Amino acid sequence: MKSLESTAPSITGASRLIFILGHPLEHSLSPWMHNAAFRALRMPWVYAPLEVTAGQLKNAVEILRAINVEGANVTVPYKEKVIPCLDQVEREAQWLGTVNTLYRRGGKLVGASTDGEGFLKSLGPWRRKMRGSQGLLIGAGGAAKAVAEALARTGVRALFVANRSPGRARDLLRRLLKRYPRLKGGTLSLTEGRGFLGRCDWVVQSTSLGLKTDDPSPLSLQGAGRGTLVVDLVYHRPTAFLRQARRLHLPHLDGSGMLLHQGALSFEYWTGRQAPLEVLRKALAQALALGDRSAGIPDKS
Ligand code: NDP
Repeated sequence: MKSLESTAPSITGASRLIFILGHPLEHSLSPWMHNAAFRALRMPWVYAPLEVTAGQLKNAVEILRAINVEGANVTVPYKEKVIPCLDQVEREAQWLGTVNTLYRRGGKLVGASTDGEGFLKSLGPWRRKMRGSQGLLIGAGGAAKAVAEALARTGVRALFVANRSPGRARDLLRRLLKRYPRLKGGTLSLTEGRGFLGRCDWVVQSTSLGLKTDDPSPLSLQGAGRGTLVVDLVYHRPTAFLRQARRLHLPHLDGSGMLLHQGALSFEYWTGRQAPLEVLRKALAQALALGDRSAGIPDKS
């Protein structure tokens, strides 16, 4: 409890408010990151959970619009449902059909998604190697969509999607190719994905496999070339997928970098200031360590 208490922000009459809307929110890591950043920058801002039911969502957004709130994050299960409640949605978020950040522009409440750009930033030096590359995206859910759009935007040459449900992979790829007609791509089953690994510069695992401790890897990484970058969006622990990458001496990244950078970008939307990345990183590491020790593992951004 000591480390939890030490993250508590001071609340005064001058406090400015950011909320996170979702359900449940008990394990959210974002309050840790943002309150640490506000304290480090000596900003009188507070980031607090606003757990609402689906039936309360519209009213909750109305209240956020009407009162003195600077912005919000939106998480599961409202990233899509919140869109009709907003005044405007940024173009990329419109295409994704999801938002994770609400901010004020003029008198308007605007929705944005920082997941895709957060993913690209998390690649660090690998980001510039993506231009002209080809690889495999495993999964076709909301996170996969944001990653696929970001990779296409950054100039990958070819992107293949392998998903348990083939229809969802086809739908994602069809929409992506419509937006980026020069991109090459195709869909594969998870079994076919394995045979394709030797031709991949990168493989991104974006399914929910790995959220539970005993989850298997969606596919074996045997056959991946020596320099293939392996990324798993799960950030709670080294997943079976990432452990394989480590055993095979493949370069690899977990999802904590994406979580960090999507949070930093949200912070910048609200405050207009550069996020203190190292403060956010340290707070996130503390929160993840606490999650590992506690009975409930944080599983929501
Ligand atoms: P969705 O529910 O939208 O998509 C889930 C995906 O996982 C689908 O492709 C689904 O396949 C697949 N899947 C689920 N169970 C299985 C299984 N047993 N076997 C094979 N495939 C399976 O979730 P999100 O896209 O929002 O999230 C996916 C992951 O990304 C989560 O682990 C989440 O924590 C992580 N994430 C990480 C972020 C970060 O900042 N690091 C940000 C956002 C998400 P199907 O279509 O067949 O159902």
